Amino acid sequence: MQKQRALLIIKPDGVQRGLIGKIISRFEQVGLTIIGLKFMWATREQITAHYPETDAWFKKVGERTLTNYAKKSLDAKKVFNTDDPVMIGKTVKSWLVNYMQESPLFFAVVESYDVIEIVRKLSGNTIPLLAAPGTIRGDFSHDTIDLANEQSRPLRNIIHASDTVEDGEKEVNLWFKPEELFAYSRADEKFMF
Ligand code: GDP
Repeated sequence: MQKQRALLIIKPDGVQRGLIGKIISRFEQVGLTIIGLKFMWATREQITAHYPETDAWFKKVGERTLTNYAKKSLDAKKVFNTDDPVMIGKTVKSWLVNYMQESPLFFAVVESYDVIEIVRKLSGNTIPLLAAPGTIRGDFSHDTIDLANEQSRPLRNIIHASDTVEDGEKEVNLWFKPEELFAYSRADEKFMF
């Protein structure tokens, strides 16, 4: 088995609320190896490149809103002037570009076996209201799709965590140079695997 790498970003709501240390310690305590860290303002271009520009991604995001609206009998056209999931996804991406420039972002690259599953498990559901207690999003936020859309902003959900192994590699290479990453093993690794 090979180790994988994932990118974590503490988003502006996490940074502004002083949660950097608390959040990073959760990934350390579960046993992941931190191989890179950085704190910086991101540019519009970097954020645009970070979130996918594919119809598949726009559709996934738009469908999240439509599924939520269907449950609550809300009409997407009232907020988005469309019920096309791709168009809704494009609007959410434009909100993300602004939101991710509200403060400097805190980046961490973590490495381990099955790291993607682990970072997604610790982060919790994308929608904070649905994120389980014990997860970062469940413990530190309670935002909802309806409120976020009504206020023309993305869900404020504290953290970004890579969703697939391929995304992890792409995102790490986008934000970190090879010389900013450090290969080493944790001293307690032999007790974990
Ligand atoms: P993630 O991998 O869990 O962050 O989820 P996605 O990659 O699907 O979405 C990226 C980010 O866009 C999320 O973390 C939210 O901040 C935001 N977002 C996703 N879907 C919606 C939505 O339907 N409405 C709003 N307002 N924001 C959304």
